[in-house]
Amino acid sequence: MSLTHDEITRADASVAHNYHPLPVVITRGEGAWVTDVEGRRLLDMLSGYSALNFGHGDKDLLGVAHAQLDRLTLTSRAFHHDGLATFCAELAELAGMEMVLPMNTGAEAVETAVKTARKWGYRVKGVPDGRAKIVVMGGNFHGRTLTIVSFSDDPDATADYGPFTPGFVRVPFGDIAAARAAVDEDTVAVLVEPVQGEGGVILPPPGYLRQIRQLCTERNVLMIADEIQSGLGRTGRTFACDHEDVVPDVYVLGKALGGGIVPVSAVVSRADVLGVFRPGEHGSTFGGNPLACAVGTAVVRRLRDGSVQQRATELGAVFAGLLSELPGGAVAAVRSLGLWAGIDLRERTGRDVCEGLLRRGVLSKDAHGRTLRLAPPLVVAEADLRWGMARLAEELAQGPEAA
Ligand SMILES: *Cc1c(COP(=O)(O)O)cnc(C)c1O
Repeated sequence: MSLTHDEITRADASVAHNYHPLPVVITRGEGAWVTDVEGRRLLDMLSGYSALNFGHGDKDLLGVAHAQLDRLTLTSRAFHHDGLATFCAELAELAGMEMVLPMNTGAEAVETAVKTARKWGYRVKGVPDGRAKIVVMGGNFHGRTLTIVSFSDDPDATADYGPFTPGFVRVPFGDIAAARAAVDEDTVAVLVEPVQGEGGVILPPPGYLRQIRQLCTERNVLMIADEIQSGLGRTGRTFACDHEDVVPDVYVLGKALGGGIVPVSAVVSRADVLGVFRPGEHGSTFGGNPLACAVGTAVVRRLRDGSVQQRATELGAVFAGLLSELPGGAVAAVRSLGLWAGIDLRERTGRDVCEGLLRRGVLSKDAHGRTLRLAPPLVVAEADLRWGMARLAEELAQGPEAA
């Protein structure tokens, strides 16, 4: 006998309050749809912040995971296992790179990229010890570890967590002059989300990523693209950087890399960059474990022929059309790329609209007060996408009272 919604909400007393979930208790998922404990079907238009790009319960990915579970799940990196080299080689090839350092969560991969850049700065660029500087962007979100929140400008992410890790300089996202002015001879990297997901799906001005690439090349600085949320098909390309034909020095990947099954993250770069690590200088008990590698390899293979990306582009055009038809009285601005959108609301909070959408059968998430963000699974049926957007149009047209 499963618990009812009320019983589960009461049991939440023992769950730390670091999240404020919508009042829904999910028990099953299939494709773009989930079922709650009361048997209601809901369209998932968040996709676990892009961790579920391939939807819930994908048969191929689950098949690979089940087979691997029956064979070998964990060895630690004290030994080789027969899936690691394949995963790293195939992921490197997908990214047009040479080397992969596998981790588990996104935050760990960002930490790894920061450590990589500093070590590269001291060993390769020749920055004096202890002086390495990394340029980051205003409004960034790169995860929750202490070093990462050290360069966040979100008060919720930083309050009461000091003292913080030094060595970061923040400049406004999209302002190339500010980035240029912030780079000096001690700068080892510029860390950028090609699209700021948690910030509200903020797109940089056209040409910005190319200018960052050029700046990094000119000043011998690593361009690190955090594609944890924007990468692996979400925007209609393998990487969001691809929209500007930009190849960074370092990709940071996560979320969808785990196929919605296990946490898998990675730093992907050239051998002259990731080659700075020697045995014992960095590691993770679970990073690159056999289950993670099996699922990660299946995800890479899924993306190899470009059809997932193509579908995201085609459905993205439908999505953009539907977004442009949302009631103008309720919407101040809309940004979208592929199957990813941020909708700035005129009067209501994002949370309020999410609650209304939930009553209409759609899961979504707010970002920073007045923004609603949508990221349906890339496998969503066009008819379902249209259905979900019709619910949003109703919700925005009729407001909370009518629900
Ligand atoms: C989610 C996210 C992270 C952190 O990933 P976790 O797996 O939650 O640690 C880092 N960067 C970006 C851009 C993200 O969207």
